Amino acid sequence: MLGRIRAAEARVGRPPGSARLVAVTKGQTPEAIRASVLAHTALQPGGFPLGEGRAQELRDKATEMGTAELSSPEGSSLEWHYIGPLQLNKVKYMRPVSLIHALEDVRQAQALAEAGRKWGHAPDVLLQLHNGEAQKHGVHPPELARVYAEVVQTGLNVRGLMVMAPEGDAEASRRVFTDTARRAHDLGLPEISMGMSGDYEVAVEAGATLVRVGRSLFL
Ligand SMILES: *Cc1c(COP(=O)(O)O)cnc(C)c1O
Repeated sequence: MLGRIRAAEARVGRPPGSARLVAVTKGQTPEAIRASVLAHTALQPGGFPLGEGRAQELRDKATEMGTAELSSPEGSSLEWHYIGPLQLNKVKYMRPVSLIHALEDVRQAQALAEAGRKWGHAPDVLLQLHNGEAQKHGVHPPELARVYAEVVQTGLNVRGLMVMAPEGDAEASRRVFTDTARRAHDLGLPEISMGMSGDYEVAVEAGATLVRVGRSLFL
């Protein structure tokens, strides 16, 4: 997995390690996460951020396993990312999270910023870009500049863009990834979250800085 990421970086002349692997652990037990991810922490500088897509599950696991900020029962220092759609009534579970990957409107940003003022810190965010398919989630490209400006206004730290590739078509995925990377560069944003088990190599070639891999980690 990491070898293939390094190879994809090298193919397009990117420095090794410029794409980080986010270990998607949704649906996995803490035991499985320890065996499949935490046992291999030394393989990536800073370890692997853990990506969760369901809010209560994230809260439960972060409580049991610990976070980078709160010391954990086992003395580990875990970084949690939330990669799922953020419902307003689940914002309260985002306290352990360092990065939200899929913010898509200003109401979510306002709720998160307000919670962050209570907590003393708010997670950083990425804006999810709509991928052009009949997909429910994401900011439509013509609205990106406006939504970006509005989210910045809330005080949240917008670090980049995230996109889901269209299903099953590598060349369509490459177009979506390349377009997303260009839009992130145009906005001066450093992080680009794209690529999953089926398409992470294409995503790295197109400039992903965070790849979100789940199934392939737990084979
Ligand atoms: C589940 C999920 C992933 C990981 O997908 P795999 O195909 O298991 O690698 C990545 N991103 C998001 C948003 C997900 O929900």
